[in-house]
Amino acid sequence: MRIARYTTGEDPAYGIVQEKDGRDMVYGITGDPLYTEIRPTGRILPLDGVRLLAPVIPRSKVVCVGRNYAEHARELGNEVPEQALFFLKPNTAVVGPGEPVMLPAYSREVSLEAELAVVIKHMVKDLTPEQVPAAILGYTCANDLTARDAQRDESQWFRAKAFDTSCPLGPWIETDLDPSSLRIGSAVDGQSAQDGTTADMLRPVAELIAEISHVTTLLPGDVVLTGTPAGVRTVEAGSTVDVTIEGIGTLTSPIVRR
Ligand code: ZN
Repeated sequence: MRIARYTTGEDPAYGIVQEKDGRDMVYGITGDPLYTEIRPTGRILPLDGVRLLAPVIPRSKVVCVGRNYAEHARELGNEVPEQALFFLKPNTAVVGPGEPVMLPAYSREVSLEAELAVVIKHMVKDLTPEQVPAAILGYTCANDLTARDAQRDESQWFRAKAFDTSCPLGPWIETDLDPSSLRIGSAVDGQSAQDGTTADMLRPVAELIAEISHVTTLLPGDVVLTGTPAGVRTVEAGSTVDVTIEGIGTLTSPIVRR
């Protein structure tokens, strides 16, 4: 099932995206599927007639992991860390599909990072990897935009990773997906940049989320980004970036500089 959040100019609403007679439609549902049972409103709209929003606004945080693909660690000249390298993005970094990424004024080197995003369903703490699947609502595409120059200059990655619009999410949450071996990639203006597989994660989804849950309580709607494969590159204002994950879809973001 694909859970989308959308607007037609009014308040944001949730819907299920489903094909009907060869056309993608949005079937409206009541409430927020994180907190209420999925019940149809009876409102059905063509997908191309609505504006999709970020499918979730993280309740408290986006937890990210650095260097979770060996090839990507190597391309930036880094060792694969023995201890997982975690960091946070605030929920103010999140934007939806098609929403512009604003390059921060202090950076000349903002890079894309295609990542599988996991949306948490329940409040959880101290999970074993076996308990993780039951805590997951579903998966979406993410772009962990990174000011690489600020990242090199500072040991804390707040300016590098937490700036407004640095976390596009979307286009929807796919609830029925095995994350263990999905093709994941990015493109700039239609030209392929990254092309990897989630099978290359050093720490797979269940292990990663279990470990994070031993540090911090995860709340419904929190999001975990699972690292990026090799092939990252700098993006310039005026370009358009796609993140595509097999079984989910494509998240598109125009890049702008104010
Ligand atoms: Zn990343």
